[in-house]
Amino acid sequence: MSLRLRLTIIYTALLSAVILLLSIVMYSMISVVMVNQRDSRLERVANTIIDNLWVDVNGDFQLNRSALEIDAGYKYQIWSTEGQLQINSEGGDQFNASLDPNAFEQGQTLYSEVNHEESEYRVLTVPLDRGSERIGWLQVGLIMSAIQYTQQLMIAVFTAASAFSIVVVALVGWLITGQALEPLSEIARITRKITNSNDLSRRIPVKSAQNDEISDLILTFNQTLVRLERLFNTQQRFLADVSHELRTPLTVIKGNVGLMRIMHTFDEESLKSIESEVDRLTRLVGDLLLISQAETGQLPMMMKPVYVDDLLFEISEELKILSEGEHRIIIEDIKPMIILGDRDRLKQVLLNLGSNAVKYSPEGSVIRLSLKEKGHWLQIKIQDEGYGIPQEDLKFIFERFYRADKSRTRTKENGGFGLGLAISYWIVRNHGGRIEVESEENVGTIFRVWLPVSQSEIVTTPLP
Ligand code: ADP
Repeated sequence: MSLRLRLTIIYTALLSAVILLLSIVMYSMISVVMVNQRDSRLERVANTIIDNLWVDVNGDFQLNRSALEIDAGYKYQIWSTEGQLQINSEGGDQFNASLDPNAFEQGQTLYSEVNHEESEYRVLTVPLDRGSERIGWLQVGLIMSAIQYTQQLMIAVFTAASAFSIVVVALVGWLITGQALEPLSEIARITRKITNSNDLSRRIPVKSAQNDEISDLILTFNQTLVRLERLFNTQQRFLADVSHELRTPLTVIKGNVGLMRIMHTFDEESLKSIESEVDRLTRLVGDLLLISQAETGQLPMMMKPVYVDDLLFEISEELKILSEGEHRIIIEDIKPMIILGDRDRLKQVLLNLGSNAVKYSPEGSVIRLSLKEKGHWLQIKIQDEGYGIPQEDLKFIFERFYRADKSRTRTKENGGFGLGLAISYWIVRNHGGRIEVESEENVGTIFRVWLPVSQSEIVTTPLP
């Protein structure tokens, strides 16, 4: 069953229930009011009769009929206690039998409903007393057909009005629901098109200017599409980058093997080149595995207390070896500090930042390392006086395979894959920290690594 039909049925059923309830309440209230009015009218008539009634010297009842102003619908009878009809109302059908013979037995004022010749009467029986002696009975009756007619009319009117309103509400509900659900059908239509065409660049147009749930849904859906498209593109680019990186060493290996086959000899030079390309491939595969683990938070980490000042000394020594004396590597600021982390991974981050500083700065320049504590955070700074990173590249620098200045960085001796910073970024993230970069072309670059001083700070303290 469609949502539209379901909603229409629910509206209509609810409205029908409300109308039914209201009709019952109104019918009962009007009926009660009418019955009360009728009884009080019967009482008034009975009082008028009693006011104009007397007993003559012979003990007979006498009634001054000329003083009575009673509507034609009323019948009245005066009965003696012996059961003889003393006075009967005039005009219309006459009843010689008592309006309600059973009422006498009750011995008190009584309202009753009785049938006479297929008509229903409301009868008021009043005892007539002289002093403490009972001398007779007065019975006043009123035909009920008027009330019954009104009640039947009410039922007919209520039924017709209810049926009409239910039909109107069902129709209007059907139209309004259709209109309200139209954008959903549109969303379903466009989503189907996206699925069929695999075109993630499509968006669902937001038609209504209102800030309603539907436009909210469309906006959220469009955001999801943007994200999916970005992920999809990143994945595509990643595949293209990996294939590209794999192709170069494989071509070199193939070329060298071909050369040796033609020469029918093991050429030392070719073997060395093959070996270096195999090393490069092994590094690439290792880096790829590492980054995929780090990105998904599955990188195994041995969290232990790490003496960061010690680690920084170690890094500075290794950088000196790497730079082969071409750069001045100095530790500017340092103090003993311990954090909880994976020492090997942190060393990998710092070596990567340090070796980049060596790679991308000219001979004779200075590379400064420092370690400071700022609030609940520890900051490791690696600053060089190198070529710098162009501003437009800065925001992409931590992306996989991103290399800022292709012409400069893609030389054989640099030989990076553009994965080092991405790996460092994720390792630091997995420690609850963050890397920041600041750079100016031909002035230098500063990388700052922020790490929480204690593990409990990772979640709670915002970065400065
Ligand atoms: P790579 O292996 O290419 O060095 P990274 O991910 O470590 O890969 O670095 C990405 C790019 O960022 C580098 O190719 C380089 O263009 C730029 N870069 C990183 N560090 C520096 C730096 N200290 N000075 C200048 N450019 C840098």
